[in-house]
Parts: sequence; C-alpha cells; structure tokens
Amino acid sequence: MSVSSIPFLDLVTPHVDLEQELTAVFQQALRTASFIGGPMVENFEKSFAALCTTRYAVGVSSGTDAVRFALMAAGVRQGDVVVTVPNTFIATTEAISQAGALPEFVDIDERTYNMDSEKLREYLERTCARDAAGKLTSRRCGRPVTAVVPVHLYGQMADMDQILELADHYGLIVIEDACQAHGAEYYSRKHNRWCMAGSMGRAAGFSFYPGKNLGACGEAGAVTTNDEAIAARVRMIRDHGQVKKYYHDVEGYNGRLDAVQAGILQVKLTHLAQWNEQRRERAAEYKRLFGAAGDAIRAPFEPSWSRAVYHLYVVRTHDRYGLMAFLTDNRIGAGIHYPIPLHLQKAYESLNYTTGDFPVAEKIAEEIVSLPMFPQLAAEHQARVVEETVRFVSCVAVTDCTELVTAQQTN
Ligand SMILES: *Cc1c(COP(=O)(O)O)cnc(C)c1O
Repeated sequence: MSVSSIPFLDLVTPHVDLEQELTAVFQQALRTASFIGGPMVENFEKSFAALCTTRYAVGVSSGTDAVRFALMAAGVRQGDVVVTVPNTFIATTEAISQAGALPEFVDIDERTYNMDSEKLREYLERTCARDAAGKLTSRRCGRPVTAVVPVHLYGQMADMDQILELADHYGLIVIEDACQAHGAEYYSRKHNRWCMAGSMGRAAGFSFYPGKNLGACGEAGAVTTNDEAIAARVRMIRDHGQVKKYYHDVEGYNGRLDAVQAGILQVKLTHLAQWNEQRRERAAEYKRLFGAAGDAIRAPFEPSWSRAVYHLYVVRTHDRYGLMAFLTDNRIGAGIHYPIPLHLQKAYESLNYTTGDFPVAEKIAEEIVSLPMFPQLAAEHQARVVEETVRFVSCVAVTDCTELVTAQQTN
C-alpha cells in the first residue's frame, strides 16, 4: 500500500502550466539584451502599482531590500529605533538593522497573530518618553523612535486603522511589511472602504521570492508608495545612489530588479487574483472540515475587516512536534512559521530581551503548524490532510500518541 505524498507547496505545476509564456520572456530578453532596467521592469512596476492601488511601485532585488529601502527612503536614520513584532521572518528586522536602525518589539494579538495595537500603545506610552527636545525616545536604549513596521503575516493584514492612528499621534513613519500579503485587503472603518496591502503606510515592501503568492523565478521585490519623493529615493538607492548615470547623490546599493524577473512577474501577475481566490477557497474548506471535527485544532481567525490571501495556512495545537512527525510519517508536508520568536534568537542577544517579554508570540510559536496551502492543492489531498491531522489530535486528547506514530513508521 502506498499513498501519494502531499507537498507543503507545489512550485512546479504553475510554472509548467505557464512554460511557453515564461520562456518567451527569456527569449525576448536574449534578443534585445535588456537584462537590467528597461520596458519590462517599467511595465511590471505600473501593473503592480495598479494592483496595490498606489501611485508608484519600484522594483528591487528582494523583499528584504524592499523593506530596507522603504525605511531609508521614508527618512529612518542611523541610530533610530523601529518598532515591529517578534513573530516574523528575520528579514523584517534585518531590513531595519541594515537601514542603520535598531529593532524593538511589541507583542501580537492572540487571534490574528499580527501586531496588537494596544501593545503598541502601551509601548509608546510606557517604554517611550519625550526627551528635552520633544523627540520620542525609547527608554530601553535611549534612542529616538521613528518608525513602525506592521507585518501582514500569513497573508492577513494587521489592524491598520489603529496602528496608523497611533503612528499619526506620535509622529511615526509606518512601513508595511507586505512580503506575505500580495492582494490582501483591509476594511478601514476610518475611511469606510477596502484598502489594498501596500497602500496604507507611507510605503510598503513586497517580496517576490518564488514561494510567495506572487513569486519570481529567482529573487525579486518591490516598494509601493503614493509618495513621489519616496519613490524617487528608492529608485536612487537601488541603483548606487545615481540620479543619472555616474552622478551619485549618495552611496546606494546594487538592488535593482532584473528585467527577466520583471517579465516573468508580469505574466504571473495576471493569474494572481485567481490564485488568491483559490487559496481563499482552500482556506474556507479547511475551516469547514476542521470545524466539523471539534476544537482540538484551532483554525486561523479572519476578522470581518480582513480579506486574507493565505500565503500560509497556520493552525494551532498542543503537541505541535508530535503532529509534525505524524504528518511527515504520513507523507504530508508541513512547516513552522516561525519556531523561535526573534527576540529570543541568538542574533538578537544584544537587544537584551528575555523569555516572558512577549508572552503571546512565545506561546503561539510553540503551538503553530503550517499545513499545505497552494492554489493547486487538490480537494482529496486536503481532505486527507484534515483526516490525518484530526486523527492525531483526537488521539493526543486521550493518550499519548507515540504508538500511533511508531505504528505508522513500520508500515
Ligand atoms: C519573505 C519575507 C521577507 C523577505 O523577502 P525576500 O524576498 O526573501 O528578501 C520579509 N518579510 C517577510 C514577512 C517575509 O515573509
């Protein structure tokens, strides 16, 4: 007896489906030798800005560079503090550090796993103070706090109305980390309308890493903004600080978007709405199937003000590692995003945080499991993921499941 394996993510099928269109992009680049910049980059930038409903999108070399350049272009300076959440991919805080700033954290909301605006308020009221010059300063490190980076984790936007209001009150720059949220929407009660991810902060960073909802066939990213000056500065920073060829206003980076990747992204962008819809359908199906199986598994929470695009489908359970081992034994792909909150990473020892500082992020980090989620996930595979997951957790509820796991291993 052999059951087929169910991958965590299928990156082959969508590319094989589009093979002709994608190779045509490469052929065109070969025949015109336009590899860096040029019309393919400009066309994609226009299309991506249109999707995000922003005036500008500037293609860059990765999502990490996108967040970093956005911070720099929006005015974050060497030695500033930038506030974000501890439960994100380290690229968020790398971007902050590489912009010359210092990350500090606030805890997350237990239901959405995104920045808790009440915790942000507490941080601003209690951890920060105005210095003699009236500058908002963190008492942790004595440096000025100038920006906030909400992360739209797993494809669901953070509660932006509250965050923007606080930022406005304290004079902080908001840069969205939208690297997992291409096409996600947020209903702003303040503006009474749906808003696209990447359109609400002063600027936003997107990643087109292959596994993201919109992925290149290599590395790529973009900054979106409505601010002409920020867009111009990002264009300069990504290209060695040039305003025109060999006229450098500042030192910049080699951080451009390849023309071939831009052309590939342009082709794939026309499918994004459908792929996101398929992800939402699969999320709804997971929710229905898990809902029918009791409450041993906690499915993601999508508030009425959110239209999430399910970059990842993350559930919570008590014996997380047990469930992972069991799924692996049953040839079902799973992941953890992310097992160690950033404030407890070795890389951030120097920030002097400790266990207990962000209890919600710490707790969920021990309970989360990401299940297979991609547009082409077959219904029968999804049913099997749920069946096996439920089989394991209902067993854990009554006994320990070592037997179940070892029995599987001998099959
Ligand atoms: C993927 C990701 C990034 C970084 O994007 P790269 O293109 O890999 O540099 C940043 N933040 C978050 C939340 C991400 O998921």
